[in-house]
Amino acid sequence: MITIKGQTRITLLTLLIGVIGGVVSYLFQMLYTAIVVPVVQKILPSIPQESLLAICIILCLLLLISLSALYIFWKKSKTYIDLFEYIRDPLVGVSQHKATGEYFCTSCLINRILSPVREDETGWYCLRKGCEQKYPKPKYKSSKVASKFKE
Ligand SMILES: [Zn+2]
Repeated sequence: MITIKGQTRITLLTLLIGVIGGVVSYLFQMLYTAIVVPVVQKILPSIPQESLLAICIILCLLLLISLSALYIFWKKSKTYIDLFEYIRDPLVGVSQHKATGEYFCTSCLINRILSPVREDETGWYCLRKGCEQKYPKPKYKSSKVASKFKE
């Protein structure tokens, strides 16, 4: 339910966004007429077409190089996790690194968090606070269930 106070806040926020958008578009239009239009009308025709083409190619190459450098930097950063490097156990659900064989929590991995799991005879347990996901081993029966079968 939206209260009157909340409604006023929403109206003020919409008004503020409209004012900011108007000011930004006015400044952009001023900049466009002051800088872009004179450059296109006077300076660009005076540059020979071969030089213009060379400038365009150099700018495209610079853009390509900087984008690939950014991609490489992002891929080498610690926050990047390639999900294709992990294989998910279809029975248990826990994920295993293909190269190292280490086990990791699948629900954390989906959220791009690398969280190792602790293994005991009953299964695997996520060590991250707030997740603590359990991956029980399929053949394991708890002592309560096992004792019921004995009776
Ligand atoms: Zn987890």
